[in-house]
Amino acid sequence: MKKIIKLEKDDNLTIVNQIFNFDDPTYIYIPIENDLYNINDYLYKNTYINNYLVSISGYIEEIKKINFNNKIVKTLKVANDYKENSEVKIKKQKIKNKEELLNYLKNFKLYTIIDKLNNLNNIESLVISSIDEECYSLNEFMILSNFFKEIMEVINYLMKILSLNNSIIATKDTDSEAIKKVKSIIGTYPNIKLKLIPDKYLISLKDNLCDYLNLNINNTLILSAKEILILYNTLIKGKITTNQIITISGNNLKKSKIFNVRINTSLKEIIGKDLELIEQDYDLYLNGFLMGYHINKIEDVIITDEIHTIVINKKRKIEETECINCGACYKICPVNINVKKCYDEKKYSKRCLGCGLCNYICPANLKLKEIVKDGEYEEKNY
Ligand code: SF4
Ligand code: SF4
Repeated sequence: MKKIIKLEKDDNLTIVNQIFNFDDPTYIYIPIENDLYNINDYLYKNTYINNYLVSISGYIEEIKKINFNNKIVKTLKVANDYKENSEVKIKKQKIKNKEELLNYLKNFKLYTIIDKLNNLNNIESLVISSIDEECYSLNEFMILSNFFKEIMEVINYLMKILSLNNSIIATKDTDSEAIKKVKSIIGTYPNIKLKLIPDKYLISLKDNLCDYLNLNINNTLILSAKEILILYNTLIKGKITTNQIITISGNNLKKSKIFNVRINTSLKEIIGKDLELIEQDYDLYLNGFLMGYHINKIEDVIITDEIHTIVINKKRKIEETECINCGACYKICPVNINVKKCYDEKKYSKRCLGCGLCNYICPANLKLKEIVKDGEYEEKNY
């Protein structure tokens, strides 16, 4: 098992315990790599452009290069006509085995789930993890709390497809509301067990969770609550998932909230309508404070299906100072990388998990993860 760590939480930060709908954006934004599109072209909902979902129907209003989550890319700005016109028809099927499941999921371009299924020759255990690693995020907990009936239904169906006798829902032992709701109906599903997991950082890594649950990593399929909810839409409803549950939190927001948003909505539109900043200067992190990355401006954030958490904190002036050779980065690193050496020699390590603990612990405020994980340098296996 890799090291797991109890993180100190910001007691002043509370996230409103409710999912707010942001289902009717004025615009969505789609990056493109070619010149096949023109202004005023009509786009139907549920089509894909370079694997980016068109989550509304409407006309292309603008085509220009923008900063799209820290990359400058040519992007379509699509104005919502609120008609939800879709020409995509996917026939819902009764699925009997893994092969049929894989073929069906390809219609929905659910490649992460397809890869997880393909990577296991023999699946003996199914675990649904509703664990939010980042302390600024509550997506998985909220999905389990709000959709526990749908989740149980689709787990039961998946177990039949994969010929499994048992499955486990793993949730943090602190998530009392979700635990209560699941316990209220779990009696009707004798083959689904609820396991409570300690609230420690990195417990949901596949090897850690399998160790904790005493399962073999080589034949255990772990799906998140979010993935299970997508499978509910796909398998039970025969629908493409056009929305995304995300947490927008941080100490520079009057209220931190969880939203159900259309994929590829801009953060600027949500902030303008449903969130209020305390100070105009901020530090923004996409996909979490520890694991995520820094973005300069709210205007540069588009909520793709890969974005799950946005942290907006008050701007802090952080000065980098000289390394004092304290060794804390090495001691805290869950995979024992010689972080300081990588940093000094500007090398990255394939083994880095991007967990951000080295940055979090460094008294000199050095941006270690940005080199060891994200740096485009020569690899070194320290
Ligand atoms: S981010 Fe830092 S602490 Fe985490 S695995 Fe990478 S080097 Fe180690
Ligand atoms: S934690 Fe920071 S100060 Fe300490 S050895 Fe690592 S890089 Fe140097």
